Amino acid sequence: AEHSHRQVWTPEMFQKTMPERKPNAHKGNHGRGLVIGGNSEMPGSMAMTVSAALRTGAGLVTAATVKEVIPTIAAHCAEATYLALNDTDGYADGSSAIPFENFDAAVLGMGLGRRPEAAKIVQQAIKTRLPLIIDADGLFHLKGMLQHVKQREEPVVLTPHPGEMAMLLDIGVPELLKSPFSYSKRFAEEYHVYVVLKGRFTIVTTPEGNQTVSDAGNSGLAKGGTGDVLSGVTLAMIMQKQPIPEALNNACFVHGKSAELLTKETHSVYDLMATDVIKGIKKVYRTFQ
Ligand code: AMP
Ligand code: MG
Repeated sequence: AEHSHRQVWTPEMFQKTMPERKPNAHKGNHGRGLVIGGNSEMPGSMAMTVSAALRTGAGLVTAATVKEVIPTIAAHCAEATYLALNDTDGYADGSSAIPFENFDAAVLGMGLGRRPEAAKIVQQAIKTRLPLIIDADGLFHLKGMLQHVKQREEPVVLTPHPGEMAMLLDIGVPELLKSPFSYSKRFAEEYHVYVVLKGRFTIVTTPEGNQTVSDAGNSGLAKGGTGDVLSGVTLAMIMQKQPIPEALNNACFVHGKSAELLTKETHSVYDLMATDVIKGIKKVYRTFQ
């Protein structure tokens, strides 16, 4: 297979590079994270991203979303705080709605929807100085803004599944899957972004074109919502002060290993759901701490 000569991210590498928690840490040491997305038709995705970020060790997580979505997130996790957006002050004109300067990193796009107004919030996020993770519908809106992304100095991480990556490249999925390494590398180098191309094997590419492969996980992850969980895990890893390539590989490891540990014990690949993957994060940490 094309991946056979690439470096695979091993359990040993995770153990060696996993984020350090100092005994005298306070919540501010582990990052103030911002999660932006959600609409009334997709309320659950934000809930999964926010919970996953907190479970992975983020210090503080704020969800910026439309009012209708807030109760759904709150029902799943009591630890988050909120910024209520509405279609006029948020997605339609994101300029002043979000105090980006109060945060250390942001993830955006999950459950955001493809309405043209939602593109504004992606545009605003790109203008900030925050490390950004962009997923799902955020990638859809990003497509027209790639030249702006290229000029950004702060890290940009894209987490597409093959369909989203093919959309960004203007090619078909079968064509992408013939050479996923070369397509990822070309794209990452051209736009100076990190690319996390998800799938059975996940390929992590840096803006310099370095590539690693994550083989953790199983077909239990082939379900709606698991990508939203990965986004939250990734946000938390980036905020816990690891170099970005390590943060991305460690995020894939925690996400995939959670599924593996769960399907060895209480679950199977049939019944595993994205919310279970969040619950399995503690098993990964307890195994490797
Ligand atoms: P998304 O398509 O955005 O919901 O993301 C799906 C997540 O599940 C990604 O992290 C994929 O790598 C992972 N995933 C999906 N199917 C599999 C599979 N068959 N084996 C391992 N991981 C998978
Ligand atoms: Mg997804």
